[in-house]
Amino acid sequence: MKPFIDLQAQYRNIKEEILICINDILESSHYILGKNVKSFEEEIKSYLSVADAIGVASGTDALHLALRAFNIGKGDEVITTPFTFFATVEAILYVGAKPVFVDIDEKTFNIDSSKIEDKITPHTKAIIPVHIFGYPADMIKINQIAKNYGLKIIEDAAQAFGARIGNKKAGSFGDIGCFSFYPSKNLGCFGDGGMVVTNDLEIAQKIRVLRNHGSPGRYIHETVGLNSRLDEIQAGVLRIKLKHLDEYNEQRRKKAELYTKYLSNIVITPEEQNNFYHVYHIYSILSQYRETIKETLLRHDIPSVVYYPIPLHLQKALSFLGYKEGDFPVAEEISKDILSLPIYPELPDEEVYEISQIILRCLQDS
Ligand SMILES: *Cc1c(COP(=O)(O)O)cnc(C)c1O
Repeated sequence: MKPFIDLQAQYRNIKEEILICINDILESSHYILGKNVKSFEEEIKSYLSVADAIGVASGTDALHLALRAFNIGKGDEVITTPFTFFATVEAILYVGAKPVFVDIDEKTFNIDSSKIEDKITPHTKAIIPVHIFGYPADMIKINQIAKNYGLKIIEDAAQAFGARIGNKKAGSFGDIGCFSFYPSKNLGCFGDGGMVVTNDLEIAQKIRVLRNHGSPGRYIHETVGLNSRLDEIQAGVLRIKLKHLDEYNEQRRKKAELYTKYLSNIVITPEEQNNFYHVYHIYSILSQYRETIKETLLRHDIPSVVYYPIPLHLQKALSFLGYKEGDFPVAEEISKDILSLPIYPELPDEEVYEISQIILRCLQDS
């Protein structure tokens, strides 16, 4: 079976640098909140043009800490999309707030900004747009709505490191931006890791304290926080990969462009609005023959994945929210037809061609 994402290929290209870096950290025996985390936070600040960046233990924790920093909790509502990874909603539930879903746009798969205002109540405190698959949500419109209603914006940019609208990067539009460095993400480490970014220095300080047991200094505790720190080894690895990130994203875009060229006549392929820079964490197509395509690819040892087969409002774990089938027809329809094809920076162009040919032949036969 071919890999869906070949993490080995990326490792092989930077192996020496990585091993030296990890060895240095092992020799220093400084594993938590040392110079690599500090330098990585500085590098992220400059890469994203934000005032502060705080390394945390995961993308899920980044979202959780962001909500905590705004004192969002019981009795509060947070608007988000039903078409995202489960963690977006878990974070809202961790603080005791209520997730309120808004259907998605059928072209971008992101929250439909024209439907947000209908869901705002006196209890609404924040909006969490997710830049799904690496494509920026409609941040100009969403920022405007947040401003009009006095809401906070926490961007879930876990899939969108390096994505942008014009020159402004995903994660830098809202009050807080949250990132994940889970190994398969566009910027991935060798375990779990995450980052919170913001232009509000007071909020940044609050998150810095919250990520370290609510402690602004040794054995002083201002509040009950979390143990959620990015560790030195992950930060060291990420510093090396950050130097290559733009090139990795460019490569992903090249693969996406090829898929689209081969397939756009026979399935629905992703569209890019003017000025939007997609980083293709995921490349997905829409077809009513999804299952046939998936099975045919499998017979050729090519994996494909359905992101996401069940929108969150229909997940068993969230049944207590009281949603039912038909509540978000676009998300439900997309979930039935969507299929994601292998994409990673080192994916050979010939494989994109082969995969596309298999899909074309399979659809011409059916
Ligand atoms: C990966 C992901 C997360 C969670 O990140 P972790 O680092 O795995 O905790 C949150 N939201 C989205 C959209 C993701 O893709």
